[in-house]
Amino acid sequence: MDVETIGSVGEFPFIDRIVARLGPSRPDTVVGAGPDDTAVLRLPGGRLQLATADSQVAGVHFLPDRTPPAWIGRKAAAINLSDIAAMGGAATHALAVLAAPPDTPADFALAIVDGLAAELARWGADLVGGNLTRGPALMLDVALLGEVNAADLLLRSGARPGDAVMVTGDLGAAAAGLAVLLAEADGRTVAAPPHDRDAVVRRQQWPSPRLDVAPLLGRAGATAAIDVSDGLAADAGHIARRSGVGLRIEAARLPVSEATRRVAVALGVDPLQWAVAGGEDYELLFTARPAAADDLAARVAAATGVPVTRIGMVTDGPDTVLARADGSVQPLAGGWRHFG
Ligand SMILES: [Mg+2]
Repeated sequence: MDVETIGSVGEFPFIDRIVARLGPSRPDTVVGAGPDDTAVLRLPGGRLQLATADSQVAGVHFLPDRTPPAWIGRKAAAINLSDIAAMGGAATHALAVLAAPPDTPADFALAIVDGLAAELARWGADLVGGNLTRGPALMLDVALLGEVNAADLLLRSGARPGDAVMVTGDLGAAAAGLAVLLAEADGRTVAAPPHDRDAVVRRQQWPSPRLDVAPLLGRAGATAAIDVSDGLAADAGHIARRSGVGLRIEAARLPVSEATRRVAVALGVDPLQWAVAGGEDYELLFTARPAAADDLAARVAAATGVPVTRIGMVTDGPDTVLARADGSVQPLAGGWRHFG
């Protein structure tokens, strides 16, 4: 009989099994392991602390010979900062664990740390400690703390039927960048304009968290949020499941940049595939009360310069679907999975 593995169980079902093994939580644990982008912990005085951790592993999340080391550090910070943003919060303190083979050049490792510290500092967070260990491959693991006012807290579970579905920025660029890097690693030349090629590669290697947008959402009528790390399909599914609703996403409304579209043409790919199933865009996907949605989008754009697009609506469910321009409707599926 085959041995059951993490790969055969699958990433999210395995996380569910981990969570099921945990004991009862303390009374000040508001949101514990599993249901949301970060944990939510009650501090004295009614403030809420946010806590999250995420890793970057050589060969899994980045190609060490094709990624500037500072960008490795920046991305490790950004993916954690993005989870704090998804809760409507602000980042405060980080711990980092760097595992590296002993023959790693010191300058390379220090450049990773410089990138990590710079991205944290950009958003007002301090690197306050961590650990350095020998490892078989480079790995940077970051634990990040943040804070949020109770009035600004956004959970995945707050979406209600009739709410508008919104997304910041544009989708699919990080997947386009990954496709470019993989094609180039294969020795192929991608026949896209160089500035388009560079733009999507930068989105893959140096995503920008939406911490400037995050604190504006809760008070402006947003009801639920998640960051787009695993891909729109998977992350929309998380909101739907946690809120007990369905989502109807209009394919024609999905924001896809001109650079992403031109790279898609060069690689012969439908950019909609990247926008729906490609991960690592680190945009915020959120729902909002329908009467507040347009005003919220205008307010965010005016305050931050980040565009917000209405891409669909929350339904009674249970299905989360993609409505195509030709009138066809299909299940929204196909997110990034770490284990098969
Ligand atoms: Mg997340």
